[in-house]
Amino acid sequence: MRPNRFYNVIRIGPVQVGTHRDRLGRTKHTAVCTAPGCDFATAPYASRAAAELAARTHRCNPR
Ligand SMILES: [Zn+2]
Repeated sequence: MRPNRFYNVIRIGPVQVGTHRDRLGRTKHTAVCTAPGCDFATAPYASRAAAELAARTHRCNPR
């Protein structure tokens, strides 16, 4: 699932990290790869740092 109300979006290589609120109003952070052919997306993290780390360690291999 890709939340559609991202804010504080940054880009790390092809991966975007954004902050959003979940359905319970909690702040969550998700990394999503925007490269064509790559479906990488993390589950929402409670920690921004964790989401950014996941973005940095993603090994993108688009075709
Ligand atoms: Zn990727």
